[in-house]
Amino acid sequence: MKAVFSLQTENMLRINAARLEANIQALAVFGQNDRGGMDRTTFTPPELEARDWLKERLKEQSFDVRVDQAANIWGKRAGTVPSLPSVAFGSHIDTVPNGGKYDGALGVLIALEVMTLLNEHNVQTRHPLELVSFSAEEPNPFGLSTFGSRVVTGKLKKEHIDGVANPQSRLLTEALRSAGGDPERIEDAVRSVEQLGAYLEVHIEQGKRLLERNIPVGIVTAITGIYREEVVVCGEANHAGTTVMEDRNDALTAASEIILALEDVCRNHPANESVGTVGRINVKPNAANIIPEEAAFIVEIRGKSREEILEVIAEWERRIGDVERRRTAKVTRKVLLDQDPAPMDDLIVQVSQEQSGVLGYPWYKLGSMAGHDAAHMASITRSGMLFVPSGGGKSHCPEEFSRMDDIEKVSNVLLHTILELDRRLDR
Ligand SMILES: [Zn+2]
Repeated sequence: MKAVFSLQTENMLRINAARLEANIQALAVFGQNDRGGMDRTTFTPPELEARDWLKERLKEQSFDVRVDQAANIWGKRAGTVPSLPSVAFGSHIDTVPNGGKYDGALGVLIALEVMTLLNEHNVQTRHPLELVSFSAEEPNPFGLSTFGSRVVTGKLKKEHIDGVANPQSRLLTEALRSAGGDPERIEDAVRSVEQLGAYLEVHIEQGKRLLERNIPVGIVTAITGIYREEVVVCGEANHAGTTVMEDRNDALTAASEIILALEDVCRNHPANESVGTVGRINVKPNAANIIPEEAAFIVEIRGKSREEILEVIAEWERRIGDVERRRTAKVTRKVLLDQDPAPMDDLIVQVSQEQSGVLGYPWYKLGSMAGHDAAHMASITRSGMLFVPSGGGKSHCPEEFSRMDDIEKVSNVLLHTILELDRRLDR
């Protein structure tokens, strides 16, 4: 009877939204600039202060606080079955320059709220629970994003960090030490599937799909793959006045057709989660009175499955062929990056759906079009992500905002997903 009663009590648990909101504001003090944005780039003084603040909050709750060799912060709450691996959850607290209060921070603070709530109500879990705040998730002056999770999953090693410096010649190894890391023993931060039974992350969506559907809970099915290639279109330089139109071999107009073709292919792709971008282009000789002889640009394609990315590339390739046949320009291509999408764990997706349903919250399944620590964690343990709607679809800017009402709902889904996984997972 006792077990039934405690299960019912557990099912009634709801996070303390006022406390969570106060913590969101408290953490936002560190690095806030006069434009209302956050300047909390990794290993800078405001970020180190934010780390101290977080460690204090974890110690207040008597969690076992540990800073690993990559300066990731872990706060552990013991489970009743010591042989079981931990269920870990969190995100990151660093920001992009002039970023927002919610990206990353929200995932860490919701994790803190979940752990605090369980303490408050004396709820025992079988698995140990671990909050994690990963180092340097965002692009940073050291050029290594998702740093902490890549170290933990064994993808970044000592050889990758030795000699790395920011533009001010500050060494990453030194910055890492300032945050409590240990660059000499960085590989000791690796964690295994025997230690971590699951990883969950709450993050803002950074898009408008939830907002437009007016749905509070996003359940991520996969984290986007990223494909990049460099395309060089070669034409012929000539006088911009004396060369009549039919005699031209203009590299830039040919490149323009190829870029517009990519846009068209992505717009018309049936899975409306395939996106293509050309964000960088160089023209030679780049002079007002010379027909361009070369246009070199970088194409980025993202999609939630490998098949979708390949479909987009195949159709675009066909269109490039058309352009080459109609014009005399010559196109060469080189793959720069081909990162597979990371599917999220089926059981976590299923439990998240069930728990949203039990709580009476509408949910929507979607792919994550931005990269996250969870993409790396998925290589060592079952991983899942929940998204909170982003106000105006904005992120990485001072206007970044999520409604407390949505945050509260997603936090409750995380809480109950963790409790349910704790009951169901036998390792
Ligand atoms: Zn983030």
